[in-house]
Amino acid sequence: MELESVSASLSIEMLVDCPNDDCGGYLDLLNEKDTSDVDHNEEGNLMSQMFPKTGSHDDFTCESVVCKYCKTEFNVKGLEW
Ligand SMILES: [Zn+2]
Repeated sequence: MELESVSASLSIEMLVDCPNDDCGGYLDLLNEKDTSDVDHNEEGNLMSQMFPKTGSHDDFTCESVVCKYCKTEFNVKGLEW
């Protein structure tokens, strides 16, 4: 019996905690709605850092993220898998 084939869909989130202790927001860097309508993955800036040609995930950066809840602005450094 031949098995049926289905296609896979890839779903990725890059989650960060807002550094404002009073906020506690949990944000997806790949979701513009979470980052005050800024597309931080423009030209694949974030996705390309998932598989770095040189260096490591410690070098992952995303600058000037603005939390959608409290509007705190912060930088992201490092990516945990
Ligand atoms: Zn916040």
